[in-house]
Amino acid sequence: MHDFVFAPEAVCALAVDGVASRFPVRRVYCMGRNYPWPTTPAAARVDSEEREPLVFFMKPAGAVVAAEGVIPFPSLTAEFCHEIELVVAIGNGGVNISNEDALTHVWGYAAGLDLTRRDIQMQAKSKGQPWEGAKAFDASAASSPIVPVATSGHPENGAIWLKVNGLERQRGDLRDQIWSVREVISFLSRSVQLKAGDLIFTGTPTGVASLQPGDVLSGGIDGVGQFSVTIGPLIVSS
Ligand code: MN
Repeated sequence: MHDFVFAPEAVCALAVDGVASRFPVRRVYCMGRNYPWPTTPAAARVDSEEREPLVFFMKPAGAVVAAEGVIPFPSLTAEFCHEIELVVAIGNGGVNISNEDALTHVWGYAAGLDLTRRDIQMQAKSKGQPWEGAKAFDASAASSPIVPVATSGHPENGAIWLKVNGLERQRGDLRDQIWSVREVISFLSRSVQLKAGDLIFTGTPTGVASLQPGDVLSGGIDGVGQFSVTIGPLIVSS
């Protein structure tokens, strides 16, 4: 038995729809652009040869919070943005997973928010710097309870939407994902060893915009889940 010099932090975990047991989070992978935005060429949606290559970034597991109650407004940003996304929860890990086998590795699905300091992301992009400051801050990955595949099946179409203070900001359909869940799992598994507990945020439809303290977000994905959260007050450091 090994001992630790101090007690390790508790494993970050998400609620599971319908049962008391929780889903322990291991790693959080996030996909870049994966829906047609107005700036995306229409051809990119239909011709696989034309699709932009997938890219991914990560958030620490400790950045995961339940999409409920209050989510803090982060420091160091004047452009705190919402991105509603289908979250894939991995139950069986693997490497070099084929498209055909990919869905057998899924434990469940959730509706999540990839929260982003957009101003910092734009600055990082322009300078060729890493994205952690923009994407990997505390409470930057919010998620509804995870719905087991036995309940949800594997959603391949259905509305994905987000309202802020009752006004619709984002709406898309899962069928418009440029890279399918199968392809995303296969792609990631060629880069890293996926393991049970990994979450994959699969990209957001058009309509991302910035948030203010006190905003109330409600969002969801047909057949997967819904959530409502409030953005906390601006904490001004002295
Ligand atoms: Mn995103």
